[in-house]
Amino acid sequence: MSALPSYVGGKWQRPAQDGTPVHDAVTGAEVARVSSAGVDMGAALEHGRSRGGPALGELTFHQRAALLKSLASHLREHREELYALSARTGATRGDSKFDVDGGIGALFAYSSKGRRELPAGSVYLDGPVEPLGKGGTFAAQHVLTPLRGVAVQINAFNFPVWGPLEKFAPAFLAGVPSLIKPATPTAYLTHRLVELMVDSGLLPEGSVQLVCGSAGDLLDHLTDQDQVAFTGSATTAQRLRTHQAVAANSVRFNAEADSLNCSVLGPDATAGTPEFDLFVDQLVTEMTVKAGQKCTAIRRALVPAARVDEVVEAAREKLSGIAVGNPTSEQVRMGALASTEQREEVRRSLKALLEAGTLVHGDPEDFEVVDADAERGAFLPPLLLRCDDPDLPQPHEVEAFGPVSTLLPYDDTAHAVELARRGKGSLVGSVVSADPAFNREVVLGAASRHGRMLVLNRDDAGESTGHGSPLPALVHGGPGRAGGGEEMGGVRGVLHHMQRTAVQADPATLTAITGQWVPGAPRSETEQHPFRKHLEDLRVGDTVVAGPRTITDADVAHFAEFTGDTFYAHTDDRAAAANPFFDGRVAHGYLVVSFAAGLFVDPDPGPVLANYGLENLRFLTPTYPGDAITVTMTAKQITPRINAEHGEVRWDVDVTNGDGDSVAKYDVLTLVAKRSGEAA
Ligand code: NDP
Repeated sequence: MSALPSYVGGKWQRPAQDGTPVHDAVTGAEVARVSSAGVDMGAALEHGRSRGGPALGELTFHQRAALLKSLASHLREHREELYALSARTGATRGDSKFDVDGGIGALFAYSSKGRRELPAGSVYLDGPVEPLGKGGTFAAQHVLTPLRGVAVQINAFNFPVWGPLEKFAPAFLAGVPSLIKPATPTAYLTHRLVELMVDSGLLPEGSVQLVCGSAGDLLDHLTDQDQVAFTGSATTAQRLRTHQAVAANSVRFNAEADSLNCSVLGPDATAGTPEFDLFVDQLVTEMTVKAGQKCTAIRRALVPAARVDEVVEAAREKLSGIAVGNPTSEQVRMGALASTEQREEVRRSLKALLEAGTLVHGDPEDFEVVDADAERGAFLPPLLLRCDDPDLPQPHEVEAFGPVSTLLPYDDTAHAVELARRGKGSLVGSVVSADPAFNREVVLGAASRHGRMLVLNRDDAGESTGHGSPLPALVHGGPGRAGGGEEMGGVRGVLHHMQRTAVQADPATLTAITGQWVPGAPRSETEQHPFRKHLEDLRVGDTVVAGPRTITDADVAHFAEFTGDTFYAHTDDRAAAANPFFDGRVAHGYLVVSFAAGLFVDPDPGPVLANYGLENLRFLTPTYPGDAITVTMTAKQITPRINAEHGEVRWDVDVTNGDGDSVAKYDVLTLVAKRSGEAA
């Protein structure tokens, strides 16, 4: 059998050697050989930097987001093929969906986030403009631009599709090329995934590369602009983190490693309550999905001491219904581990755990296997332990990366929190209780050692996404033992691939750099009202100045009566004057905003389609009857939409009084038609 090729430098390259054989987790038959011999790692990184980066740099966030969506749709068409290969890793159809559909889902989610939450160009603005001088001529804006290197992604064996895709999507959106290095035992599935990605023809050359086999001297070639996202064991993480090139070049290194996640049953959740059942169901699910080879699986189940026996009984009953065996067989609920080596690793860890506890369900040496050979396939049954002394170290230190969990008793809430924290850094923890006070104490008590915390109870169970599911919108990672990293988390994950730079300059330069009008930058007051301009004709800085309009006593009284807002500050002179902020009756803030709209608007039908909101509204100075207001409205940000006949325009609005003081400032958000009326 010839070894899997790598995709580097724009072509598929077969290794110079036969490579390491990897085996079907179910039958033990050889599936592929894996080797990176002959791959020039330095050249691959250089190809990413010199071809992939610039090609991605020519695209906007929105264009990259659109490509991610097309890629997701393309992969979705090939799901069955990926499921079939996934079964060879020991995965049931449900497990494969978790991996394959989860990965495709991450692409869709990032595509949607990119289009909705990222600007039209390729520079991300972080936070507001910071004024730095009283005269308004010197200000600063934090901007993020993509790193001009390669995102090296070293993945674990347990999620050969989701793992690469959840790392690739945010890097791609940021404009950074990826080099994917799958774990050897399941590299054949990632290889097919990348083949599909490349064959789609959607991705700019150099934006994705694949190295099957060992990383070799890959890390030696890293520069300050490259980064590493690693998932795997804590030992490897530590080795790579301290690699000479990583340390010398301050290479961003993100690790997601072993984690002894806990789930805590609340004292209120007695047998017969929905929470008791939810706790047991969730524990069994986390033990058996992917045969427990999930970095987010529950390894420690914390239960009120008086309730351990009942939980043992309920869990045993459910676990005894789990058929283990060939994952393609209908009745099988749990497949095989990824390899027989991994099974031996789990058996070794189990031995260490048994120094502290006893097995209450499952026997690693004696169990039934459906439709498969128990020895040739990497099978294990679900193994539940009970450790009556929760202060022993093993359950908090030994990770058996398989269908293994330990039940631990706790005395009171403080004890539960202390035990949850003993994982010394976890990806996720869950609390199963309907008592908000208990949930609060556990969540806040344990949060500094967790990347994600899930509260599960009768109110949210119907919609809960579950303990073990990382979501693209939420951060995935954890402190300490969990690696100290953070992946995904929506746009946060994109920004991890970019450099934040504080740019200090005059307003005109800031506007030129960011593409967003900055107060103090030149404005352009043209004959034609900006509301008469189509999206393509509008420029940031286009301005309309309107007014003044004097606000009368009658206006304020009428507005109060008309809207029903008869708050004393607008209707009772004496009461208003007693208020420390006012010298007498004031106009309603909403009156000011409404009159401002009456001033700046161009009433005839035209390209402005709708006003869909206001942001950052502040009333800065009271407006008294008799004051005359003037409004200055300036196009601040123009966001064309791909595949739409309109775009969004954000307007800066400044309402001033006769003294020139700002009485209200805000952004108006509008939808404006494209001139062509056609999708770009
Ligand atoms: P490893 O840490 O050995 O491997 C993870 C990844 O790192 C693989 O792609 C591996 O490649 C790569 N790698 C290993 N050594 C180097 C190196 N020197 N330079 C560059 N890359 C390297 O973990 P395993 O996959 O072997 O799993 C071992 C244990 O890790 C499991 O039993 C489990 O306890 C834990 N684990 C935790 C996970 C989590 O998400 N928390 C996920 C998977 C495992 P290659 O395979 O080619 O060696």
